[in-house]
Amino acid sequence: MKFCSNCGGPLVLRVPPGEQLPRHVCDRCGTIHYRNPKLVVGCVPQHDGRILLCRRAIEPRRGYWTLPAGFMENGETLQQAAARETLEEACAAVQVGSLLAVVHVLHAEQVHVFFRAVLPAARYGTGTESLEVALFDAAAIPWEDLAFPSNDFALRRFLEDRAAGRDAHHFTTIDRRLRQAAGPIDAPAAGGVAQ
Ligand SMILES: [Zn+2]
Repeated sequence: MKFCSNCGGPLVLRVPPGEQLPRHVCDRCGTIHYRNPKLVVGCVPQHDGRILLCRRAIEPRRGYWTLPAGFMENGETLQQAAARETLEEACAAVQVGSLLAVVHVLHAEQVHVFFRAVLPAARYGTGTESLEVALFDAAAIPWEDLAFPSNDFALRRFLEDRAAGRDAHHFTTIDRRLRQAAGPIDAPAAGGVAQ
């Protein structure tokens, strides 16, 4: 962030009076520009025991498989965001169900939220952000070619819960800042998600 979206003036990074963290401050108009985590919302659409995945047509992680998910818009609920993203990426109309997973992706400044979802009919297509959309049996999920660690977490918890006959929800934190400090990165790169 370099310029003020209010007046176009240059921004400086400093701790405003009464605050604890450095902020982008505009000295011309006095506006403080706060940066907060973005919400990414998706679902695990299930049809007849199989799971709908999309192969990404866009960076980051083009060519890798993902659950339908994307940035939440103003004026919609989490469930509406999950359904909208599934419609956009997989041309699939799902019924969004229970909360499955909340993943804090600290290095990306994002929170990923996943729901269970039902795809009533096997009707889907390839949205503009996807190269390919397909239903997978649990045994055929392309674990090595998943785009993001949060998807891996959500899918594994989904399958465990399904096998156990429960609808639990799960929390985890992914923080690659710590791994970078500690040594080589052992997980696939994931700098962001679909727009
Ligand atoms: Zn300004």
